[in-house]
Amino acid sequence: MNNLTIVCANCSEINSIELQGERVLYECKSCKEAVDDSFPVEVSDTSAKLHIDNDELPLILSFYSEFCGPCVAMEEDYENAAMSQYLQTRFLRLDADKHHELAKSYGVQGVPTLIAFKDGTEIARATQALSEVQLTIWAERLRS
Ligand SMILES: [Zn+2]
Repeated sequence: MNNLTIVCANCSEINSIELQGERVLYECKSCKEAVDDSFPVEVSDTSAKLHIDNDELPLILSFYSEFCGPCVAMEEDYENAAMSQYLQTRFLRLDADKHHELAKSYGVQGVPTLIAFKDGTEIARATQALSEVQLTIWAERLRS
């Protein structure tokens, strides 16, 4: 069986889970909530760094603002893409109005900005909203 290092979506504890199947929910060793429930994970500057540095799955991080039209319009597509990629590619969301540090260190100029990470390294970036289909293609390409 495959082991996977994954940061808890709820408490940011670093877990090692033994993969058992596609639709299984894995309990966090610390908070006992599901480590991931396929929904985009709301992150802060601090927890985003934990995900980028520790998650073994490829990540897509969305810098958004609730006052940005294209960001709000993309929300449903982002959620649907995240659900279809459960335990394959993780989708994170960071409110750029509340958190500034990470956006600054990655030179993010505006929202929406989407950055794809693999093994802690940025490998792709988009500076416009993407559709569910585009997001899914992106996520699948990340794994190859
Ligand atoms: Zn937890």
